[in-house]
Amino acid sequence: MRGLDPSVDVADDGPAECPYCGSTETEREHPKGPSLCRSMHFCHGCEQPFERFE
Ligand SMILES: [Zn+2]
Repeated sequence: MRGLDPSVDVADDGPAECPYCGSTETEREHPKGPSLCRSMHFCHGCEQPFERFE
């Protein structure tokens, strides 16, 4: 744990940055996630899926 909340530090529309390891080697998995304000991404750096709020 690094004291970061992965749900709050993503606000712009550059490449999605992994909230776990900070890598931008990420891939959007679906056009939209479970709700219209989220998208699902997958990090190739640490192989973790994460949600990005838009
Ligand atoms: Zn990562």
